[in-house]
Amino acid sequence: MAGIVLGKVAFVTGAASGIGKATCQILAREGAKVIAADRNLIGAKETAASLKNQNDHLGVLVNVNEKETIQDALEKTVEKYREPPSVIVNCAGITRDNFLLKLSEADFNEVIDVNLKGTFLIIQTFANALVDRGIRNGSIVNISSIVGKYGNLGQCNYAASKAGVELLTKTASKEFGKFGIRCNTVLPGFIKTPMTEIIPDKVKSKVISTISIGRFGNVEEVAEVICFLSSDKSSFINGASIEVTGGM
Ligand code: NAP
Repeated sequence: MAGIVLGKVAFVTGAASGIGKATCQILAREGAKVIAADRNLIGAKETAASLKNQNDHLGVLVNVNEKETIQDALEKTVEKYREPPSVIVNCAGITRDNFLLKLSEADFNEVIDVNLKGTFLIIQTFANALVDRGIRNGSIVNISSIVGKYGNLGQCNYAASKAGVELLTKTASKEFGKFGIRCNTVLPGFIKTPMTEIIPDKVKSKVISTISIGRFGNVEEVAEVICFLSSDKSSFINGASIEVTGGM
């Protein structure tokens, strides 16, 4: 079987749903062994079980803002594959929307904790595992958002967290190049997932009027880009931010 990530071990957070789940499917289609990780363990296991060559894959629990669960997930991965994953995709993310004047401190903190600190903790734990073993040819793909570039009404916490993810990634790309690990960011626009299902229809129509292609994106349209960045096809792309928005 040919595939652009054939034989690579790939760890994907947020794998129970939306973009993370689609990323697992595309990576597996392209020959990777996939660890589907999510705080929803049942969902992560379902994703892993749905993939081609079922026994090559694993569903694990991870809470990206809790270091112990990340360490456990790494250990489970190394136990099964005898090596840490060389592809790491940070898809786990949440929204807690409200206008800035009304946003609670708890909702501000939770979004920063999961989206930004969670991405940091995953990168640090998994990159250290690669560096310690001298494994090169790694690729880290972090999911930011177009909202992290331009801001959005009712999403100051989310926009700040996603802007942070982009610059965290650029900095990691500068530090990790010498270890043979690339880091890139994908900035999706509005994609059809449970995260955007809650947007009221009136707001959805308004958003669509700002998208050149005239619709929300599908999860596969983001996952294909993530898979390309995970693969050696993108071997000279490092520190890049790629927008997948349909033209906004
Ligand atoms: P989704 O369908 O809600 O999937 C996100 C997954 O991450 C869920 O399974 C969620 O579990 C899990 N998760 C949340 N917090 C976690 C944690 N602390 N540890 C581990 N897993 C956690 O969302 P999506 O739309 O696919 O979004 C995926 C990524 O793309 C996110 O980073 C999001 O910000 C970004 N993004 C999405 C869009 C869009 O339009 N959909 C646009 C730009 C960027 P729960 O269900 O339990 O929360």
